[in-house]
Amino acid sequence: MDESSLISHEAYGPDIAGVLIPRHRIASRLDELAGRITETYPEGELTILAALTGSLIFLSDLIRRLPLRLRVDVVRVSSYPHQATASRESRVLIAPAGDLPGRHVLIIDDILDTGKTLELIRGLVLAAGAASARTCVLMSKRRDDLPARVAADFVGFDIEDQFVVGYGLDYGDLYRNLPDICLLRELAGGNGR
Ligand code: 5GP
Ligand code: MG
Repeated sequence: MDESSLISHEAYGPDIAGVLIPRHRIASRLDELAGRITETYPEGELTILAALTGSLIFLSDLIRRLPLRLRVDVVRVSSYPHQATASRESRVLIAPAGDLPGRHVLIIDDILDTGKTLELIRGLVLAAGAASARTCVLMSKRRDDLPARVAADFVGFDIEDQFVVGYGLDYGDLYRNLPDICLLRELAGGNGR
């Protein structure tokens, strides 16, 4: 039996249509990603800059797999005012607090959609004088309508253009605590755009 069929989404409430990526697949993919990231920084030092709030759980699970001299900083960018599910213009709400000049910076986000969030953060990291600025997302959404979209350097999962919640990702500030990546019932099969 496929292990994922053992995880029932029933307990997550009536709004959750199903599990897209179960926790054990996330965990094994994080092992692979962490290995690749560690190899990419032979100097052994890294500053992780996490985009709040959706990347919180990804961040905490990933950094415990990285045997590096690691610093963690956060940045908050608004791209989802209220409950809209389509990406809007991004704005910096909380700027990184630590010193980025000369640092190797890996920007972490939950999901790559239009790419505006990562572009904005990468721009500010480079403007601050970082030695390097790479990007890592847990998921990258398929957006055939945006052929010029930026790519992330490290991607956990390529997914279809669907709205996902859980494992840090919210809808109207809910569902961040779900241990699996799930689809919302009302948006399943659509992207809310
Ligand atoms: P982008 O700037 O690439 O269009 O959007 C990235 C941000 O939009 C992510 O950090 C995330 O906050 C939000 N986002 C994009 N797609 C989804 C999704 O399917 N589910 C959730 N919960 N947030 C999303
Ligand atoms: Mg986000």
